[in-house]
Amino acid sequence: ATYASLQEKDCTSITPPYHALQEKLALVRKLLDNRPLTLAEKILYSHLADPEKTISSGGLKRGETYLLLHPQRVAMQDASAQMALLQFMSAGLSRCAVPVSIHCDHLIQASDGAHADLENAIVSNKEVFDFLESAAKKYGIEFWKPGSGIIHQIVLENYAAPGMLMLGTDSHTPNASGLGMLAIGVGGADAVDAMTGTPWELKAPKVVGIKLTGDLSGWATTKDLILYLTGKLTVKGGTGRILEYFGPGVFKQSCTGLATISNMGAEVGATTSTFPYTPNMRAYLHATGRAPVAHAADQAAANGFLASDEGAEYDEVIEIDLSKVEPTINGPFTPDLATPLSKFASFIKENEWSDELSAGLIGSCTNSSYEDMTRVANLAQQARSAGLKMQVPFLCTPGSEQIRATVERDRITELLEETGATVLANACGPCIGQWKREDKKGEENAILTSFNRNFRSRNDGNVKTMNFLASPTIVTAMSYAGKLSFNPMTDSLTTPSGELFRFLPPAGKDLPSAGFTPGDESYYPKPMPEPQPGTEVVIKPDSQRLEVLRPFESHFGPHNPRGLELPPLKVLMRVRGKCTTDHISAAGKWLKYKGHITNISENLLITAINDEGGDMNVAFDTDHGASQSEKDTIPGVAKRFKARGQPWALVVDENYGEGSAREHAALQPRFYGCGMIVARSFARIHETNLKKQGVLPLWFTDTADYSKIGSGDIVETIGLEGLLNGDHSSAIRLKVTKLSGEAFEIPTKHTMSTDQLNWLRAGSALNYIRSKLQE
Ligand code: SF4
Repeated sequence: ATYASLQEKDCTSITPPYHALQEKLALVRKLLDNRPLTLAEKILYSHLADPEKTISSGGLKRGETYLLLHPQRVAMQDASAQMALLQFMSAGLSRCAVPVSIHCDHLIQASDGAHADLENAIVSNKEVFDFLESAAKKYGIEFWKPGSGIIHQIVLENYAAPGMLMLGTDSHTPNASGLGMLAIGVGGADAVDAMTGTPWELKAPKVVGIKLTGDLSGWATTKDLILYLTGKLTVKGGTGRILEYFGPGVFKQSCTGLATISNMGAEVGATTSTFPYTPNMRAYLHATGRAPVAHAADQAAANGFLASDEGAEYDEVIEIDLSKVEPTINGPFTPDLATPLSKFASFIKENEWSDELSAGLIGSCTNSSYEDMTRVANLAQQARSAGLKMQVPFLCTPGSEQIRATVERDRITELLEETGATVLANACGPCIGQWKREDKKGEENAILTSFNRNFRSRNDGNVKTMNFLASPTIVTAMSYAGKLSFNPMTDSLTTPSGELFRFLPPAGKDLPSAGFTPGDESYYPKPMPEPQPGTEVVIKPDSQRLEVLRPFESHFGPHNPRGLELPPLKVLMRVRGKCTTDHISAAGKWLKYKGHITNISENLLITAINDEGGDMNVAFDTDHGASQSEKDTIPGVAKRFKARGQPWALVVDENYGEGSAREHAALQPRFYGCGMIVARSFARIHETNLKKQGVLPLWFTDTADYSKIGSGDIVETIGLEGLLNGDHSSAIRLKVTKLSGEAFEIPTKHTMSTDQLNWLRAGSALNYIRSKLQE
């Protein structure tokens, strides 16, 4: 095939308004008495909706102040975009307030090869893709159709820009921060804030400085750095924090290498990561057809906007000498179980696991850059010269059409295929479980991937598949050996002619000498298309995949005799122990119902444990009398309550809702009539998501009170009315009436801000936004 070389892009809608951002930052600096700022603060504060108001009401304190921000762009992937668009549509606007893009990447299953898989996905998801495309057309959204690539790779290649703040409805949105910006993963309701021009709220994150000195060498890559750091920080270590890298080591890495680091910042729970603007970022902008963005960024950098100030203080500093970073392998089942390559063979042996590798997988949004692919190709070339072939199935997922076409032109694809690789469609594929794996069903086996996440059964749906994370080069070298104990740095393989062969450290190129090529240009949407209001957005009334989202009714109205207190709520159950967003709204086969609130709600809390009895997915319908409660599934009882018009509450344990930003975990309880959740503690993002959907989250003042409330009890708020009437000193107590008739009160705490109280009063944040827009 022949391809056009990359043309310079229209950069009008993708160049950050540096002048305005710097002016706003100058105002913030003045208000903060010119204290030195970190880069993360500069980017956040230059996007404040109203700096004077924010600072006058208590200053800017990291970890405390709620920031109201105006992000410049939103990107959405096909699974999460459905609910985000359904919510946006119900706001009644004719266009989006900021540039928005949709990317069809999650719904393509890897089975028979790139071409056939893409064709199959287009047929089986036609209804969803048509919905997304027509909504994009109606509201002026850039639509990247199936086959165009993975959201985060496309954003990096086309939209990311130094100093910008953007949101994406996917937890790996921080990938774009590799270009020296702040890209943050959020739920659909947060994206709708930006899409409707409503300021988006974020508690000012703490900033962890990560100083990089020295340089990576030999087999070590930026993937190994982040695998090492994930082991050090653990899956919770970045919560409420931005990881800001600085120091000479940053400037030695390619832009795409930095993107790999920020991509996996999601694995430690970081809000996002960032880096100062570097010459390699400039080169990447030029190579991807965005010279005007590079020129504008050069100017902004010269004014000191794109790096931290001298003397800026971090909440914590971690120093890493890159020359000491070793290739690292993380897993199985959690990304923070890090083992240096040199100790991996003994780690496998100590655990008495089989030494057999069953498959190698490279690519995904984490590791499919040109640099990654050329390093892999270098190993493949060495292996081919020695007459070696892959010993296990080896799958490669290109991140975008641009990458696919460029590596095809540069004959890397041919080389990989010759050596036994299968190149899949430009999509998420096995990274999100879209892998129709025919071998190893239900069997214990080990795979090695260059992806970012390795929760149990994430890749092939098999709970017994041990999934390890590594750099693409380690995955490749070990796939030639077929053994987990193989260390390519020290061990040799035997060639067909009986000689011993050892890999040399892989060499690669961060950018193609002949430039990138766009490949099939039909994949590229027009930048900032004009909305076409006449476009019909089709949602069939009998659809099983999509359903119009009806606004949630406010809790307060003629139907509620308690005025501005919540109506009496019946307790559905007391949830025991760990309850993540995965427990509340499972993924896997439920992914296809993301746009259908009725169908997906059938999975509500199906893996949660009921503290009364200790069973999973069991709840009691006490309306049959205390002694003869009827047992049913949790969604079963929730549906009964909904059918009776009985609003309800949940009692939950510690850190309720940890995990992803999955907004379905808040939407679904609300859909069935949940008005309040009382917790020993909440995970912060989920608590905000509940507030957004009009569910009141309350914290036990005394966590021992958790055990005093059970299924069928009636709980009533006392003191909410005062809060809603503006008395912020008003505390909320709960009156609990047991099934036996015994009644008592318990104290609670809350974290509701004035805006969040407005959401509760309106029934949801969206109802509130809608009423504001109508004003
Ligand atoms: Fe998420 Fe994997 Fe797709 Fe990246 S490739 S967006 S991590 S599913």
